[in-house]
Amino acid sequence: MDIEFVRSRFIKHFDGKTGNIYASPGRINLIGEHTDYNGGFVFPGAVDKGIMAEMRPNGTESTIRAYSIDLKDRVDFDFHDGKGPRASWARYIYGITLEMEKLGVPVKGFNIAFAGDVPLGAGMSSSAAMESCFACGLNDLFGDNKVSKWDMVLAGQATEHNYCGVNCGIMDQFASVFGQAGKLMRLDCRSREFEYFPFDPKGYKLVLLNSCVKHELAGSPYNDRRNSCENVVKHIAAKHPEGTFETLRDCTWEQLEEVRAEVGEEDYSRAHFVLGEKDRVLAVCDALVAGDYETVGKKMYETHEGLSKEYEVSCEELDFLNDIAKECGVTGSRIMGGGFGGCTINLVKDELYDDFIATAKKKYYEKYGKAPKVYDVIISDGSRKIC
Ligand code: ADP
Ligand code: MG
Repeated sequence: MDIEFVRSRFIKHFDGKTGNIYASPGRINLIGEHTDYNGGFVFPGAVDKGIMAEMRPNGTESTIRAYSIDLKDRVDFDFHDGKGPRASWARYIYGITLEMEKLGVPVKGFNIAFAGDVPLGAGMSSSAAMESCFACGLNDLFGDNKVSKWDMVLAGQATEHNYCGVNCGIMDQFASVFGQAGKLMRLDCRSREFEYFPFDPKGYKLVLLNSCVKHELAGSPYNDRRNSCENVVKHIAAKHPEGTFETLRDCTWEQLEEVRAEVGEEDYSRAHFVLGEKDRVLAVCDALVAGDYETVGKKMYETHEGLSKEYEVSCEELDFLNDIAKECGVTGSRIMGGGFGGCTINLVKDELYDDFIATAKKKYYEKYGKAPKVYDVIISDGSRKIC
């Protein structure tokens, strides 16, 4: 993203003065899917695509003048008027402003222009990139940078919950705020402890293929799966009154086998995936430390298999892309995100990259009449002030 581009729009749409520029990235998740609500681990990293904003106090008490460069849309509003703006993009600014105020930042009126290059709805969390970018700016402009990183993560999450109607977890905002170039982060969704792991796959590229489908499924597949997981935990807890079982995180393979007959094959398979995913995340940690990207890739394929066959959250298009990756000799490939559409994330040897992308585009087009979108990603730094 281009600083001069954002600056030129900021100058043009406001009073000709310049402000400070802040940036925050989107994210990928290497492994650890459907683990957050099971008390497990996720493994995100920040990417080289994000949101960049120029911001400057405008001397008013509580008037925000906001310009979305990409949407060419201007909205002015008073953040103390009790209702805020209607435009969905401006609600992120409104929400994070009030959340930062709650954290004690004495926010006053400001001007803001922003742009981004996180593809929307591709699973890289453009919304978290916005929240953490604006939080970083408000903290710097009005708060002496006293708000901690974790509080900014939680302010971003609260923005989604309270002003945008999205009941999300904390991975996206966490990755956007805490990301570091060349490092992935293993986040314990239960304790919020995290650890950086080196991600420096020399000779490999990380690339996302967007299936460009999002299947709206009848019923509530997400809640069904949550219920299955909770049901298995309930049965295990009943058998083991001596232990504490909050989530599948607390359960062992043996305990799962003990309740197999009572919970039925569907719940069993789903819990089996979750326990497997927990093990795979830990295996990936070791592999990253050893620089063993072949093992990382193998675990990615295993996750895909589990998401598809056991957790049943894949779809024909994603399985098709995964099969092409296998045929092309790609090191690792899997669904990224909750499933039923969106992207696959692929770890590809440099020398296979061109062939893989060309083959995937051609075959996918022949079958589905559209080409998958291709996003190369480099693991990059989190929220920061640019100038
Ligand atoms: P994602 O999975 O990418 O986070 P969301 O639906 O949560 O998808 O957030 C997308 C929303 O964020 C858009 O509808 C828009 O309101 C806002 N948004 C994201 N990027 C931009 C941008 N570059 N300019 C304006 N608004 C944006
Ligand atoms: Mg989002």
